[in-house]
Amino acid sequence: MSTTILVVEDEPAIQELISVNLSFAGHKVLRAFDAEQAQTLIRAELPDLILLDWMLPGASGITLAKKLRADERTRQVPIIMLTAKGAEHDKIDGLEAGADDYITKPFSPKELIARIKAVLRRRAPQLTDDIIKIGTLMLDPTTHRISGGDMPLAIGPTEFRLLHFFMTHIERVFSRAQLLDQVWGDHVFVEERTVDVHIRRLRKALEPSHHEDHIETVRGAGYRFAAQIARPG
Ligand code: CA
Repeated sequence: MSTTILVVEDEPAIQELISVNLSFAGHKVLRAFDAEQAQTLIRAELPDLILLDWMLPGASGITLAKKLRADERTRQVPIIMLTAKGAEHDKIDGLEAGADDYITKPFSPKELIARIKAVLRRRAPQLTDDIIKIGTLMLDPTTHRISGGDMPLAIGPTEFRLLHFFMTHIERVFSRAQLLDQVWGDHVFVEERTVDVHIRRLRKALEPSHHEDHIETVRGAGYRFAAQIARPG
């Protein structure tokens, strides 16, 4: 699945090298040379992950990381710090500023891609290509196919994303607003009842193999994917 990664790096050669490798790995890449440019890009489009250089002209990567963590809109975006320093106290500073991981320069493209994957798997599993199986329900992000038992199920693109999000966040209750943010995307202005429409379609898609009861309505709160259902398919 294509994820949007913002690369904040002031050295053009390194920025280019990272960007080329990320594009090659199937990511959409946004680029900034400093914190100010980064914030302008973030205002326009919320990235799925940020690669943030430590030493930047103007505000440092650490300052930007703290700012992003303090802002409701950007709080959840995973951050990987890039640093030329390997000192222990720098690592601690980075993690305390809210970074999820850090990579010491120089690093290989292979290591970078692996670290990104690991952070996404931990922080935003719905953005990875891992096949998910819960009971007899299976979802494959690469082929965009789902099946219940041995039965292939027809599903629309929005319902697929919704199911992918639910299956990577089982048992947790999400409000309509949270689902809109997570599944439809930030800066998308649709009414909350749109969620109900797609929940109905999702249940319908799961009906042929009797998996529709995984999707529970939690009165006054929202929806939840229950791992166990009384009548497995
Ligand atoms: Ca730098």
